[in-house]
Amino acid sequence: MNCKECDATLNIPDDASVGEIISCPDCGADFEIAKKIGSTVELKQAETVGEDWGE
Ligand SMILES: [Zn+2]
Repeated sequence: MNCKECDATLNIPDDASVGEIISCPDCGADFEIAKKIGSTVELKQAETVGEDWGE
């Protein structure tokens, strides 16, 4: 499974469950596990709350 942003390899634990957040070690993007069927995991972009609060 690779990061959708930078294509780095994401380490997803075997026991990861749906709803868990996986962070890319490279670019820091957060992905949420949307589906898990056997060892196949489908990721979606995590909705980060409080990121755009104006810096
Ligand atoms: Zn990345």
